[in-house]
Amino acid sequence: MIRFEHVSKRYPDGTTAVDDLSFEVKEGELVTLVGPSGCGKTTTMKMVNRLIEPTSGRILLNDEDIAGIDPVRLRRRIGYVIQQVGLFPHKTVLDNTATVPALLGWKRARARERAAELLDLVGLDPSTFGSRYPDQLSGGQRQRVGVARALAADPPVLLMDEPFGAVDPVVREHLQTEFLRLQDAVRKTVLFVTHDIEEAVRLGDRIAVYGAGRIEQYDSPALVLGAP
Ligand code: ADP
Ligand code: ADP
Repeated sequence: MIRFEHVSKRYPDGTTAVDDLSFEVKEGELVTLVGPSGCGKTTTMKMVNRLIEPTSGRILLNDEDIAGIDPVRLRRRIGYVIQQVGLFPHKTVLDNTATVPALLGWKRARARERAAELLDLVGLDPSTFGSRYPDQLSGGQRQRVGVARALAADPPVLLMDEPFGAVDPVVREHLQTEFLRLQDAVRKTVLFVTHDIEEAVRLGDRIAVYGAGRIEQYDSPALVLGAP
């Protein structure tokens, strides 16, 4: 589904963030990218939605080189959730969630209906939370809205960059549980960045263990943990 072929990224200042990366993510697979800060995880992710262009190598989405796909069209096929999701402060939770369907030209009523379904899916009762504004939510709740919004156009691919990294440990565990349930329901192809090995093991069907600019191990959680 997503294939990296000898992908390298060298930033203009000479930093090699990713060095000759080749790996594949299957359809419906949740792959966690784990490793210390600065080892190239975010760079890897941002190349998938063309926020960053590789210096060499290529990335295929369903056997199509993404270099040939218009970035705006590409990003409609890829949901993206970051550590501190940016919500529109003057829009309600429901309207924030309906942003993408509205951009895609859906009728307002249908976009809002879809937004309500999505809020339900991420564990936020739309009748309670739909009319709130972002500053009336906890950190964990804002992240859930970010996930709902990323799913709005029903993209086959989801990129999650430390989505639960800024919430406290109890809430994080709750969000992980819900995310696994959600993934069971929607089966996206997911790349999930974390620096927390426990999170990587808990969520990942496979784990890509990063060292500086490279994947040092790419295996099931059991093999990464070295189980017999
Ligand atoms: P991670 O997500 O694992 O923390 P990143 O992909 O953000 O790693 O960064 C990988 C390396 O590339 C780091 O050394 C980082 O400092 C460097 N880097 C990231 N973005 C840029 C940039 N825009 N310009 C120069 N170097 C960068
Ligand atoms: P968290 O530990 O997840 O960050 P918070 O302490 O921020 O949680 O919030 C706890 C509860 O209070 C949440 O259910 C949230 O919806 C509610 N809440 C937080 N801020 C506001 C606010 N400004 N108005 C109304 N409810 C709020």
